[in-house]
Amino acid sequence: YLTVTSLSKSFGGFVAVNGVSLDIGKGEFFSLLGPSGCGKSTLLRMIAGFESPTSGRVLLDQSDVTMLPAEKRPTNMMFQSYALFPHLTVAKNIGFGLVQERLPRSEIDSRLADVTQKLQLKPLLDRKPSQLSGGQKQRVALARALVKRPKVLLLDEPLGALDKNLRSETQDELVRLQKELGLTFVIVTHDQHEAMTVSSRIAIMESGRVLQVGSPETVYEAPVSRYVAKFLGEAN
Ligand code: ATP
Ligand code: MG
Repeated sequence: YLTVTSLSKSFGGFVAVNGVSLDIGKGEFFSLLGPSGCGKSTLLRMIAGFESPTSGRVLLDQSDVTMLPAEKRPTNMMFQSYALFPHLTVAKNIGFGLVQERLPRSEIDSRLADVTQKLQLKPLLDRKPSQLSGGQKQRVALARALVKRPKVLLLDEPLGALDKNLRSETQDELVRLQKELGLTFVIVTHDQHEAMTVSSRIAIMESGRVLQVGSPETVYEAPVSRYVAKFLGEAN
């Protein structure tokens, strides 16, 4: 469904992503896991269309989207930092992309109502981001990503800034939403435990390469290298 072939990205002489190939199925909860700097965000940004690959291709639902700009792809991304506009209300933050796309007002309103209900955001709609807790910001960012109705949602460390309790709560909610909407999720994390709990499959990355792809059980029970074993072992 989402296929990435020999995807690479160099910055100057530095290779951030090095020949990554992945085949992600429709409706999967797929996690990219690996240490800081291994290229997770760069890979995700290339899938989203925010970064153009140095070489390789991105195919989505049988069409080649490698050259398509981000806003024309059936993907949407939720950023590591949430990237909310501080001067806009929650409602306007969520609707911003749809206004840019010039959707009719009625369509924007109905999508906004839908996502507001799904994520229980009603009491927050008139607030500014500075008046939200971390968990609430996270939900708004998620709403903003979902309102575009993407086929694939790309999430870069969506739970990274949350405390432990909120993390597991939000994790459950992500799984619920993903199932309910039948969406394909590609999620970046450096939390092994989180990836093991929620994913259908995970890819372990190091230095721009994918070392292993498989179900959490397979990767845990049959790691392909000492590095993978050690990396996963650090979760316990
Ligand atoms: P983290 O877990 O810390 O978010 P990551 O796995 O997401 O790390 P990336 O952000 O993809 O890592 O970065 C991979 C490598 O590419 C890093 O060494 C980073 O410094 C480098 N890099 C990323 N973006 C750029 C850029 N625009 N210019 C130069 N180097 C970059
Ligand atoms: Mg990152």
